[in-house]
Amino acid sequence: MTSIVVLGSTNMDLVTYVPRAPALGETVTGRSFRTIPGGKGANQAVAAARAGAEVAMIGAVGADDFGARLRSTLEHCAVDTDLLRTAEGSSGTAHVVVDDEGGNAIVVVPGANGTVTSLTHGDEALIATADALLLQLELPLSVVVEGAVTARRLGVRTVLTPAPAQPLPPELLAATDLLVPNEHEAAALTGLTDPRAAAQALLRDVPEVVVTLGAAGSLYAVRGAEPVAVPAPRVRAVDTTGAGDTFVGALAVALGEGRPAPEALAWAQTAAALSVQREGASTSMPYRVEIEAAFLSPHILEAD
Ligand code: AMP
Repeated sequence: MTSIVVLGSTNMDLVTYVPRAPALGETVTGRSFRTIPGGKGANQAVAAARAGAEVAMIGAVGADDFGARLRSTLEHCAVDTDLLRTAEGSSGTAHVVVDDEGGNAIVVVPGANGTVTSLTHGDEALIATADALLLQLELPLSVVVEGAVTARRLGVRTVLTPAPAQPLPPELLAATDLLVPNEHEAAALTGLTDPRAAAQALLRDVPEVVVTLGAAGSLYAVRGAEPVAVPAPRVRAVDTTGAGDTFVGALAVALGEGRPAPEALAWAQTAAALSVQREGASTSMPYRVEIEAAFLSPHILEAD
């Protein structure tokens, strides 16, 4: 079984479904409201566990009701939480607005995630056992850098989702094996709006890049070859929240199992295509049997 450690965030998603997102200063009436456990780190952990990996999570929840629910949700999804700290104060929250087109706008308040500033010896021992370490940018940058550098030193593959977009320190890029920005993050990192050009530019700093392109799929780029476009299955999207995290979690599993990169991308896109057809982030993530079935018989997924 592929073994994955996630160093990342846990947030309670406070999700409101609206006909259309409000502009600043405007009030709209929502259709419904849900609290859904999320955070990019926890979402990638759940996605990888459902896709068939053994997963452990390093991070922090708050000493509040949200924290207890975030922890128990991860445990129910078979994610090891032994090294998930409980910090004083509030859990992280993400205030999510989902419109009728399935688009979303999100405000994240870090809360307990902000207390994870360095790794313990236990964290390092856990990372040493992994096939891959998944990182995002919802924890303090200092610990993200420490995690990537530690994994690199231990020979563990590092997969970085550069979200929310921000400039990346050179030592983080130097310790990243696979960078997975979406097209907006790729543009923010490089100043280039063409995903192919952005991917090529990013290859100066990291050996392998996957740029996700929403409904258009993704682009795989490795040094010394032309980027390869992998189209996504055509589906009717209900809610794209967490699609990128589903993709990364499933991609890490497929790569850990030794699938060649283009096939691993297609497998991960099958997982993401299943997730966008359901509401929520972690609640929408497919199980391995569903991914396998849809991967082998793509017509299961296709929109009419
Ligand atoms: P994004 O973060 O929007 O680039 O999406 C990440 C991945 O989710 C993409 O690479 C696709 O595999 C999948 N995805 C997102 N939106 C859709 C959609 N509308 N239809 C099918 N797949 C999607």
